[in-house]
Amino acid sequence: MTTRRPMIAGNWKMHKTCPEAEDTARALVGQLTGKEEAEIMIAPPATALVPVSRIIGDTPVQLGAQNLFWENQGAYTGEVSGPMLVSAGCRYVIIGHSERRQYFGETDEGVNKKIKAAVAAGLVPVICIGESETERDGGKTFSVLDKQMEKGLEGLSEDQFSQAVMAYEPVWAIGTGRSATPEQAQEVHAHVRQFLEKRFGAQTAGAARILYGGSVKPANTAELMALPDIDGALVGGASLKPETFAEIIHYKR
Ligand code: PEP
Repeated sequence: MTTRRPMIAGNWKMHKTCPEAEDTARALVGQLTGKEEAEIMIAPPATALVPVSRIIGDTPVQLGAQNLFWENQGAYTGEVSGPMLVSAGCRYVIIGHSERRQYFGETDEGVNKKIKAAVAAGLVPVICIGESETERDGGKTFSVLDKQMEKGLEGLSEDQFSQAVMAYEPVWAIGTGRSATPEQAQEVHAHVRQFLEKRFGAQTAGAARILYGGSVKPANTAELMALPDIDGALVGGASLKPETFAEIIHYKR
């Protein structure tokens, strides 16, 4: 049986200046024992990547970016490429977050190009998918997710996908305080894994980590993490305070 190392990832979104991000990263490192079972990742805003990377250096905390552009360089004002993120110390990059889809016109086709660019640069993509409340109420959850995965993962080989992390983030649960129930989350995670199995085979699907995101807090982490197809959490609001995020990381205690 495949063992998947759990992962707890914090998405800081557009929060924290450089000094604030440094203080938060320092405080988070101070909360760790070094014996954490889960892999830990934080994704500060782009301006804070380099200063935070200096602080988390040799600690178990990995660095992630919140976005990238698919070209390596060129006349793309305001964008940041995969090789640039690697040079800033990133190992992960979040791709296709619903806020990027909603506010910045990110499409499944763009997500697909970004995943390929991330993998080519040696980054691990954290690929976000999720349905809106209307889509869920209309019974379209699985068809929406299938389309996001079909187009988002189009042309990706098993090898290219092998390191990728999936994140199921129901849009109605993000920043609302209303998490999916464990049953709702497990049902979708099992569906996502089945999709991956059809697309990439049983071994790759069995090894793929699927994170849940949407109002994860210390109080609901353990019951979500106990479910067979939930391999971690992508945490927004509750990752901003180091003590709270550390409680989520230490969900087993
Ligand atoms: C997110 O932004 O990925 C997220 C899940 O946010 P929150 O935890 O605040 O719902």
